[in-house]
Amino acid sequence: MKIPYTKPSIGPMEIELVTDAVATGWGENCYQYLDLFERRFGEWLDVPYTIATSSCTGALHMGLLALGIGPGDEVILADTNWIATVAPVVHLGATPIFVDILDDSWCLDPIKVQEALTTRTKAIIATHLYGNLCNMFELLRLANDMGIPIIEDAAEAIGSLYFGRRAGSIGLFGVFSLHGSKTITTGEGGVFATRDPELYERVLTISNHGRAREETRQFWPEVVGLKYKMSNIQAALGCAQLERVEELVNDKRRIFFKYKELLSGLPQLSMNPEPEGTFIGAWMPTVVFPEFEGFNREQALETFQRNQIDARVFFWPLSELPMFKGTPTQRRSKSISSRGINLPSYFGMKDEEVQYVVDVVRSVAVGSTT
Ligand SMILES: *Cc1c(COP(=O)(O)O)cnc(C)c1O
Repeated sequence: MKIPYTKPSIGPMEIELVTDAVATGWGENCYQYLDLFERRFGEWLDVPYTIATSSCTGALHMGLLALGIGPGDEVILADTNWIATVAPVVHLGATPIFVDILDDSWCLDPIKVQEALTTRTKAIIATHLYGNLCNMFELLRLANDMGIPIIEDAAEAIGSLYFGRRAGSIGLFGVFSLHGSKTITTGEGGVFATRDPELYERVLTISNHGRAREETRQFWPEVVGLKYKMSNIQAALGCAQLERVEELVNDKRRIFFKYKELLSGLPQLSMNPEPEGTFIGAWMPTVVFPEFEGFNREQALETFQRNQIDARVFFWPLSELPMFKGTPTQRRSKSISSRGINLPSYFGMKDEEVQYVVDVVRSVAVGSTT
């Protein structure tokens, strides 16, 4: 039995729409699926303006550029993050400020955010890690007090809800990833989403090599833009996946709660929380082993590999990566990262497969305390 980490679910509708796009989606039809995908995604998210992109990283880059973020500006984000969240900040010449995370949600600690705010802070990026939800009420309160925006990195939070609103629809703008490992996929791809019409127009212009959409002259950019567009063929795949989004999210949740049930005999492990008022998309079931009990991540990974299970390590703290050498260590970020393991989750994963992974988690947990 070989258990992959994630894998996409491609059904007959996906194949049908992609085949149609590649056969007919040219000339006058070249934006047909793109327009449809952007509209449907916006309806699903309940946000009026969406732009399909080649990646989540690209969507974030464009949004930050449109806000005028650059040298001398600071952007606050969690130390526990995928590199994609900080890379655009660095490319724009701004300074990332890494802050510590909360013990339970593994997302931004609002108190640490407050301590990190300065007159140079231009934005806070709230990453809903592994589909868990940031404390948006607190973060919005802080940001509103300072007159700065909250940006949501909802790459991992498709299907997550915060007090009735979808993750990625709450801040000034939200970005999503449609990478092959994510809950819905276009192979590679992303979405930029906002309620702000002016920001939308700026990002739309940037996204099209700086050409404004009302420009009548051909080949006439008004600013130096970026090129992070999704293709119509990918959008066709996106349309089919979006038709199935509830089904795909529900299966992620089924798998997560199966893990939770089977691991309930090991109360020392913590897993993704779902506090009152939230609903998690459960992209990545994750277990965090207890502190001070001699858990050895490398040994644990070896055990998973020996058992043909493609488990993954929790994200490394960004402050520990070589390019950010010299930035202060964040205690919880460092500690949790060294004790966390992502467990496999993919559409159609059988209960026996979950049980098989759980048996290995159990052997690792028992081994670590003896
Ligand atoms: C996957 C991911 C991204 C990047 O998505 P791409 O589509 O690969 O650019 C950004 N942030 C987080 C938290 C992610 O997990």
